[in-house]
Amino acid sequence: MSFAIHVKPRSIRTQLTLWYLLMLGSALAAFATSVFLIRVATLSREVDAELNIHAQHLVAVLEPRLLELDPVLALANDQRLLDEPFIVRARSGAPVYTSPTFPPLRGVDDAAAVRAARGGDSLMSADDSTGNTFRLATLLVERTGAAPLVVQVAAPTEPDRAILRQLAATMLVLFVLVLAAASYGGSFIARRALRPVDAIVGRVRAIQASRLEERLDVRTGSEELDRLVDTLNGMLDRLETSMHGARRFAADASHELQTPIAAMRAALDVGLRDELSAPEHRALAGEIVADIDRLSALVRDLRLLALADAGHLFERAEPVDLGLVVRECCEIVRAVAEPKQIVVSVDVLAEVTVSGSAQHLRRALLNLAHNAVRYSPDGSTIQMTIGRLDTEAVVALVDEGCGISPEDLPHIFERFYRADPARARDTGGTGLGLAIADHIVRTHGGRIEVSSVVDQGSTFAVFLPLPAASDLTPASPPQTINAF
Ligand code: ADP
Repeated sequence: MSFAIHVKPRSIRTQLTLWYLLMLGSALAAFATSVFLIRVATLSREVDAELNIHAQHLVAVLEPRLLELDPVLALANDQRLLDEPFIVRARSGAPVYTSPTFPPLRGVDDAAAVRAARGGDSLMSADDSTGNTFRLATLLVERTGAAPLVVQVAAPTEPDRAILRQLAATMLVLFVLVLAAASYGGSFIARRALRPVDAIVGRVRAIQASRLEERLDVRTGSEELDRLVDTLNGMLDRLETSMHGARRFAADASHELQTPIAAMRAALDVGLRDELSAPEHRALAGEIVADIDRLSALVRDLRLLALADAGHLFERAEPVDLGLVVRECCEIVRAVAEPKQIVVSVDVLAEVTVSGSAQHLRRALLNLAHNAVRYSPDGSTIQMTIGRLDTEAVVALVDEGCGISPEDLPHIFERFYRADPARARDTGGTGLGLAIADHIVRTHGGRIEVSSVVDQGSTFAVFLPLPAASDLTPASPPQTINAF
């Protein structure tokens, strides 16, 4: 069982405010610490300088007393010296006279005093028995005709510590006040800056799937959020387009499925009548078989498109001999074209190998070739040419058919689009042939270009990228989803 607490705040406003406070707090703390340390250093320098000056003044006052025959008596009798905390030592360090206000210091023995007098630590620190710290200045006083003496003057450090404590307390209070003000200000600014986000969320929530034509009309005044609004509007554009496409596709597909079903139903109704002769029954059965063929072709194409839309057209690319694929297509199409006495000829200008799925490329070319047969008059010619153009493989299909008008040309790759619906249905097309061919070619990184003159014929050119030599090493066969 885990007791881990999730401490990271989830609201951006809180996160921004906390980050802001953390940065400001760190900067302030660093600044305050530097100021404090500088103040500590300057204060101790000032205190030492003051103590030195004071000690020299005191020695100047003491000197006449120290020259007297009995310096101890002279010092003890001088009322002005009663408040001065000092000690007079012999050259050996032994105390000669200790003023009543001189504190009982620890660690300042005779030897230390002598060392200090010889110029070692003329300024040093020492604590008294109660833990108070003092600074100690040590001076050597020369006497003509007598041994020199050592004078030590003490000064308490407590007043300076009090100044530093006060400085620290003031800075701490200011630190807390500044942070409190900054936290309020930071949270206020973050709330203001993020207010448009709430507006955007509200608008996006209001836009439901059924009202995808609505757009976000929020102007945030900030470049980043305006970009977010534009991106969301762009996404809504795409959603609306694909939603409309999906709805239209569903409606068209059900309509296309309904047509052969209704035809079969009507044929069966007629067939149920008693008065029909055996040949008439056979003719009806033939019609029903044709409708069933159309239905299964439609279902096959719908399934293929659904797989293609889901990105599952084929898993792995393999080297494809395009010449072979074109020749295979040609054989199949010749059989379909024969009843119309249409001549299908193939011209291989160059042997090209592309990368992809042979099965799907065959399907795409077959769809184009079937169309060429469907929309061409009897006795005409269909020319298939394969070659290469710069870095691309090209398969061109030229027919002498009815052609496509300039108004229809931009739409022929749309699903279920037919330039002449009645005629196209009669020819047995599902209305998905070009959409599937286009999808397959685009999945292979290529494109289909069309040029057409009404009543003269059309040219469909399939461009496929030529793979780099290293991509063509034969691999294990691709895992193709058999949708044909
Ligand atoms: P269909 O099953 O109707 O042929 P397609 O998607 O294959 O559906 O083609 C869409 C439309 O494009 C056809 O209905 C037809 O009007 C037009 N079309 C396609 N290929 C040709 C062609 N070679 N010549 C004339 N029109 C064509």
